[in-house]
Amino acid sequence: MNLIQESFQRLFPDKEFSYQTKLEYNRRLADFNANIRLHQNNIQINLNLQWKDIEDEIKIGLIQHLLLKIFKQKKLTTPNINLYNNFVKNIDILATKTKPDPTLLLSFWRVNELFFYNRMEQPNLQWGQQAFRKLASYNYHNDTVTVSTIFQDQRDEILDYLMYHELLHKFHKFKHKNGRSSYHNKEFKDTEKLYPNYQEMEREISKIIRMKKTPKKSRWRFF
Ligand SMILES: [Zn+2]
Repeated sequence: MNLIQESFQRLFPDKEFSYQTKLEYNRRLADFNANIRLHQNNIQINLNLQWKDIEDEIKIGLIQHLLLKIFKQKKLTTPNINLYNNFVKNIDILATKTKPDPTLLLSFWRVNELFFYNRMEQPNLQWGQQAFRKLASYNYHNDTVTVSTIFQDQRDEILDYLMYHELLHKFHKFKHKNGRSSYHNKEFKDTEKLYPNYQEMEREISKIIRMKKTPKKSRWRFF
């Protein structure tokens, strides 16, 4: 069975399928990642090798999800896409575990105890780059919380506030409303505000960003 054609025809039963297809598994893509390319009438899909052992019905959901991107019909949904979305929600259980950074691990423990009754599974925890815009992130494909190195020398409360935000992403997984995922919806923001002094944290984070953006030289030297 050609999975791409099968996925297409279940998605668009009335359309004719007139494409050359290529489906490849490779190791270069990140955990459970996939991409799609449409060039003239060639559709090429690359899947991370981990997808090889996953059931076809789920893969069809993934392929349909990718097809909707290139055909710009993001609002459509199918039973297979629902299956795929449910699968993705549990991918963190399958993700490869890496050795966590000790500072981030302590932060995770504090936040897990205080806000999640120690019920949250430990994700992978790592420092990212010295980023000023993407301060921290949670990647559900590889179950990893990444924090910008600009917070490496900050007090626990700041780090824990960022950790809390990212763990909320792991906690809520991602919810779909009319085919759109809503990461920072009202429910998310309401739970985020449960963090003590969250407004002060926000202010302090802005301050840290301003400070770190200014090169040391101009900060300290007087002209
Ligand atoms: Zn977020």
